[in-house]
Amino acid sequence: MPDGPGAPAYAPVNTAQGHVYFAGDHLNYMDARQHGAVSSARKVVTALHQRVLAS
Ligand SMILES: Cc1cc2nc3c(=O)[nH]c(=O)nc-3n(C[C@H](O)[C@H](O)[C@H](O)COP(=O)(O)OP(=O)(O)OC[C@H]3O[C@@H](n4cnc5c(N)ncnc54)[C@H](O)[C@@H]3O)c2cc1C
Repeated sequence: MPDGPGAPAYAPVNTAQGHVYFAGDHLNYMDARQHGAVSSARKVVTALHQRVLAS
């Protein structure tokens, strides 16, 4: 996707649903690549870490 990982089209699927977080290459503009999978996983782990720090 030309707008990269911050593209608005990905926002709904990259937003936590309560305590449920989604991660995977399909949620990233690097679809079907390991880089996309790792980037997506890192994004979710960072979000979880920030959530724990804020609690
Ligand atoms: C043949 C092939 C070659 C590839 N070659 C390359 C390459 O050279 N370079 C590259 O960058 N990428 C390559 N890829 C793509 C790369 O493998 C994927 O982008 C990456 O593995 C995606 O990681 P993921 O964690 O998003 O998903 P996955 O690796 O698919 O992990 C998802 C996991 O969730 C599990 N799961 C699914 N449903 C459930 C459920 N209901 N409950 C519990 N667990 C569940 C699955 O069993 C799986 O272990 C290749 C893919 C294939 C198929």
